[in-house]
Amino acid sequence: MVEKFKTKKKCIEYLEKQRWSDNPICPYCNSTKNTSKPKEFRHTCHQCGKSFSVLVGTIFESTKLPLTKWFVAIGLILNAKKGISSLQLSRDLNVNKNTAWYLQKRIRQAMQDNSLTLKGIVEIDETYVGGSLSNKHYYKKLESGKYHKTGMEHKVPVLGMIEREGKIILKVLEKASAKDIRPFVKLKIEPNSTIVTDGFGGYTGLKDHFDNHVVLNHSQYERKNNQFNTCTLEGFWTLIKRAFIGQYHKISRIHMQSYLNELAFKHNNKYLNMFNLLINNLLHVNYATI
Ligand SMILES: [Zn+2]
Repeated sequence: MVEKFKTKKKCIEYLEKQRWSDNPICPYCNSTKNTSKPKEFRHTCHQCGKSFSVLVGTIFESTKLPLTKWFVAIGLILNAKKGISSLQLSRDLNVNKNTAWYLQKRIRQAMQDNSLTLKGIVEIDETYVGGSLSNKHYYKKLESGKYHKTGMEHKVPVLGMIEREGKIILKVLEKASAKDIRPFVKLKIEPNSTIVTDGFGGYTGLKDHFDNHVVLNHSQYERKNNQFNTCTLEGFWTLIKRAFIGQYHKISRIHMQSYLNELAFKHNNKYLNMFNLLINNLLHVNYATI
């Protein structure tokens, strides 16, 4: 995909198609009458007389970074199934660390989908992220669904909700408590759904809101072999925990949420759509308000 965008011209042509369907609109007065100046990648408005490019008012205008770098960065991020560190991104793009960090942050913001809701059979589970895997006994989950409390001060609780063979929502919680979990679950899952959870107290009281609430209180073996289970989320927990190994005292919740947004975006969208969707989101993100 990215091979197509080796020059500024190719990038601009693509963005013009995405933003205007090839009919430029003046961002200052909304007139559709203008003259193109292809060499400068700009248009002159007949109504207000101003000159504009497709980048005006978009995130791409806010940096001096060449467009081709943006496109390569998007390609690298989309191709890295588990994500890519901003350090690796800076090496691959040959830009400094701050620029790579900025790019990653903005691209991840464009991956956020606040309007998504889930339905059908939806597994819900929670985990704690942080610390090295050698410390994992500190946050061992008990059969009852409760956790050992020792050593968890530095760990960040994460909630996952996934449709059977469908979409996923991942969220950093303030606390893994009913107060934090219940309103979010109600907001993001349609009421005529079947939710599947373990016996953790954070999920009690949801039965009345949903068509069905299957509570798994069985052994690990039974859980995996039950037609209802929360096994799909296990793979995500492993991935997320690996990504944050060693960040024991300094996990930033904002950083973690943006990584979760990236994982969910990649799971929820087909590869071919991801590129277009991301570019469209970037064109519409109002960078001034973020
Ligand atoms: Zn105008």
